[in-house]
Amino acid sequence: MTTGMQHEERLRADIVEIGRRLHERGYVASNDGNISVRLEGERLLTTPTGVSKGFMTPDMMVTTDMSGQKLAGDRNPSSEILMHLAVYENRPEIVAVVHAHPPTSTGFAAAGVPLDKAVLAEVVTTLGSIPIADYGTPSTNELADAVREHIRAHDGLLLANHGALTVADALFPAYYKMETIEHFAKISLVARQLGGERLLSREEVSRLQGLRDRYGITAPAPICPPEPDASDSDCQTLDAPSVPGTQLVAPSGAGLGDDEQIRLTYRELTVLIADAVKQLR
Ligand SMILES: [Zn+2]
Repeated sequence: MTTGMQHEERLRADIVEIGRRLHERGYVASNDGNISVRLEGERLLTTPTGVSKGFMTPDMMVTTDMSGQKLAGDRNPSSEILMHLAVYENRPEIVAVVHAHPPTSTGFAAAGVPLDKAVLAEVVTTLGSIPIADYGTPSTNELADAVREHIRAHDGLLLANHGALTVADALFPAYYKMETIEHFAKISLVARQLGGERLLSREEVSRLQGLRDRYGITAPAPICPPEPDASDSDCQTLDAPSVPGTQLVAPSGAGLGDDEQIRLTYRELTVLIADAVKQLR
């Protein structure tokens, strides 16, 4: 057996395990959800359509090319393959994609409430803000286009009236981001029931964003130079009118609990981080 094949066996087993956890945690009902991972040779390994993700076996997985055409497997690839392909096309470094319908974060997605407040250090560091991608009919290009709009700047998205999507450089990290989003949504919901979240300060958020480098975290937004040149398309997306990469933080100089809120774009965060780094030198 070649190392490549051993590696693929491992990935099949990992997808089975992640499907089991998604189901066990109630992140999917019935045959919902899908998982994919890049294989060598411009191929993807994806969950099959029409099966419960809680009861899969390694042999059920489907291999496709990078346009979603089936190359091997007894079953058909995930019906949401287009959404996965949109991620891989736009993020060459991404290796795995997880999609599920966790009830609390999907509730935020259905209510049109993005998880874009700087509340928890862990979330600011690993995911940043979690925007809502516009509604698109599942399994169509419409949904893939909605994902494309945000995926270059975010590793976790809510999908309007649908669910959530997370991406990473490996299968388990992508799954853990799904856990983080759902956990954050639950905490946010409780905080709102208790009178509302108290936001982290602008200074604290820039400090936390600065830590991402130290931990080798490239998400959520690509770190753009303070004055990106016009050809930097990744940075351009952060300037889009809809401002997909914004995060609500407490105003400058304020501690926790100030009522006033400001919107800080990732561009502004980037400048803050650059300033902080300069001061360290
Ligand atoms: Zn779905």
